[in-house]
Amino acid sequence: MSRSRILILMSDTGGGHRASAQALQAAFAARYPDRFEVEIVDLWTDFTPWPINRMPGMYSPIVARVLWFWKLLWAVFDNERAFSAALSLVYLISRNALRKVLQTHRPNLVISVHPFMQHIFLRLLEQEGAAIPFVTVVTDLASFHHGWFHARVERCFVANEHAAASARRHGLHASQIRLLGLPVRPDFAGSLPDREAARARLGLADAEFTVLLLGGGEGMGPVAAIARAVAARLVETGKDVQLVVICGRNKRLRHVLQRSEWPISVQALGFVDNMQDWMVASDCVITKAGPGTIAEALICGLPILLSGFIPGQEAGNVSYVVENGVGAYCDAPDGIAAIVTEWAGGNQLAQMSARARKLGRPRAAYDIVDEMVELVDGEIA
Ligand code: UDP
Repeated sequence: MSRSRILILMSDTGGGHRASAQALQAAFAARYPDRFEVEIVDLWTDFTPWPINRMPGMYSPIVARVLWFWKLLWAVFDNERAFSAALSLVYLISRNALRKVLQTHRPNLVISVHPFMQHIFLRLLEQEGAAIPFVTVVTDLASFHHGWFHARVERCFVANEHAAASARRHGLHASQIRLLGLPVRPDFAGSLPDREAARARLGLADAEFTVLLLGGGEGMGPVAAIARAVAARLVETGKDVQLVVICGRNKRLRHVLQRSEWPISVQALGFVDNMQDWMVASDCVITKAGPGTIAEALICGLPILLSGFIPGQEAGNVSYVVENGVGAYCDAPDGIAAIVTEWAGGNQLAQMSARARKLGRPRAAYDIVDEMVELVDGEIA
């Protein structure tokens, strides 16, 4: 029997969209082995002409180094008219290239995990007369660009009630909206490893207090300064403490950290593909406010200290974490070190951890693909 084809549209602006796309791909493979062929496409990089195809590659350097410019871009694209005009232009310039996506992949279902895909691709489907179901999976937790919401989608999958309300405000009908959680890799869906097993597997010491420090997939933000401040304060507690820094794709950061002298045990790692083990093995996580990392930490019951956020799409994640009582926010390395030290000596971690577990949706990716399968079956019936 030939397999149905599913196309996931994303763009590599931050690791989170790719991570969500991969989570869905893995969930299809786990739940429906051999039934679907799921392909992930970076629509902007691979199917738009120069110079539009260079834009996703500029996202990380802009966000890391010229934040004012990102704020400006966000303000412009936050305006619905400007956004719609810009996407219409992109569509006109890219139409021939975009047609190739349909010809190459011949999908039975199209999934978007990025706010810039809806307008362009739905217009393409309409103009090509292609009756292919199109669904959106919103991969943000609290701040929602209006580009996420398009009235002509078959379904819009959201992570929480905030997102559902935002979808309704943008004209989606209740029957289109599904609240099933943010899709994270199936590694987080089953029973998580217990802490001792995870530590043994990672070769991590059985310390009294373990802090995990992250900067998203790209290792962004003042991670080195935070590591130094935290190590300097934690050593004063006299406890048996350790710090694990995951630098993601930021090789320079890893190199700098590995060459530094530390007053406590510090491990600096590159991109890891077993985040669930590192999270389970830790007592708290310090991270920028990336939705993927937050959703994963909630599932692991890991209290979250947010050290920064990308203006625009991550701003709302700060109040989401703080108001739900699952962590705190501070962007100054010394302040972060003070909070972590207080957590190391206090008893608030257990409560935060319990609240985090309640908010976590470990099976979100499975639940989402189960609903999508009905759409594919309907389409090919
Ligand atoms: N991640 C990972 N290995 C690493 C660093 C990050 O698997 O070494 C994953 C992390 O678990 C999360 C994603 O990358 O799923 C980061 O997504 P998030 O939305 O937090 O931030 P972004 O990188 O998109 O800004």
